Amino acid sequence: MILAGVLVAGVGVGLAQAPRGGQSDGALRPRPGANRQPGIPPPSIIDYKPRSTLVIAEHPVPRAKFPVIDVHSHQPAPISAAQLASVVQSMDPLNLRILVNATGASGDALARSVDAIRSTPHRNRMVMFTNIGFRNVGPGFGQRAAAQLEADVKAGAVGLGEISKDFGLGARKADGTRLALDDPELDPIWETAARLRIPVLIHTADPQEFFQPLDLQNERWLEMALFANRRFPPDRYPAFEQLMAERDRLFRKHPKTTFIAAHMGWHANDLGRLGRMFDDMPNVYGEVGAVLYDLGRQPRTARAFMITYQDRVLFGKDSYQPDEFPYFWRTFETADEYFDYYRDYHAFWKLYGLDLPDEVLRKLYYGNALRLMPALPRDGFPQ
Ligand SMILES: [Zn+2]
Repeated sequence: MILAGVLVAGVGVGLAQAPRGGQSDGALRPRPGANRQPGIPPPSIIDYKPRSTLVIAEHPVPRAKFPVIDVHSHQPAPISAAQLASVVQSMDPLNLRILVNATGASGDALARSVDAIRSTPHRNRMVMFTNIGFRNVGPGFGQRAAAQLEADVKAGAVGLGEISKDFGLGARKADGTRLALDDPELDPIWETAARLRIPVLIHTADPQEFFQPLDLQNERWLEMALFANRRFPPDRYPAFEQLMAERDRLFRKHPKTTFIAAHMGWHANDLGRLGRMFDDMPNVYGEVGAVLYDLGRQPRTARAFMITYQDRVLFGKDSYQPDEFPYFWRTFETADEYFDYYRDYHAFWKLYGLDLPDEVLRKLYYGNALRLMPALPRDGFPQ
């Protein structure tokens, strides 16, 4: 933290050098009346919802410009014909073409889930990923899980995942120790995914602020206060950077395995870092679920990033809430300014559109997913 006194003395300090998570120099500079207190009780952050007076063109986008594959959806597995019909009815006006059900099922449940979709008129609108329960990992676990993975792919799974954040944060080995992401016992799984040419959708850790103290400088204060299970204090959990290091060793150790880092690997707040990762690891892709608040608060940097890495990004939403998708379309497709995000506990700030070129939108929405998953239904997409 830069001392205010130093600034007042006029010592040359770059104005852009705000400390991580801190306030800018200007906000710290003492000013006349700076110690003034509100004459009426201040509202809580829950109550204060100022109405914007900005008058500016608005271009809501209820329907995506191109058909979309959501590679990170959570749906019942198996899903009933009636449930699927109802989901498809909500997908159509959004231009959602295929949902990847990444809730995960394997063995008999996976086979029944695949059959449940294939026995309906909507067989081309949803696909299944298989999953692995990382419990009691000990000698032989990796080989058994790899064999199950191969059987599940034969039964119709087109990918593996979502491997949840519990892998790394919570999962224990048979001997009681924490299962590290790069535990060599699991190598046969990743090697089998490479041989079968299926992607692995993996969610590692959570936003970095969830690992930081719940103080008044934490930009996720409200979310952490609302959800106790989104706090990862260091006395009970591995540090964010430890999980990132294990993840990166895993990605590097299996260069022939395609990994889709869910939620942009939680680096959407540091796209320089994510870009270096993509440069270093050609087998790694990013999925944009639940990080729209980070892309939309840096529209110029995010636009440049999405153009540079247009072959490495996939659309995913995670939680299936039909009314939330249009926020993604508007952020990706328009140059709108200062518009609302859909959850105040994710982000108390406004979003700005990235105005992505059509070529990039096509890859983000469906092109990259079709390339990574040759088994996906092809009908309904532009040639
Ligand atoms: Zn998910």
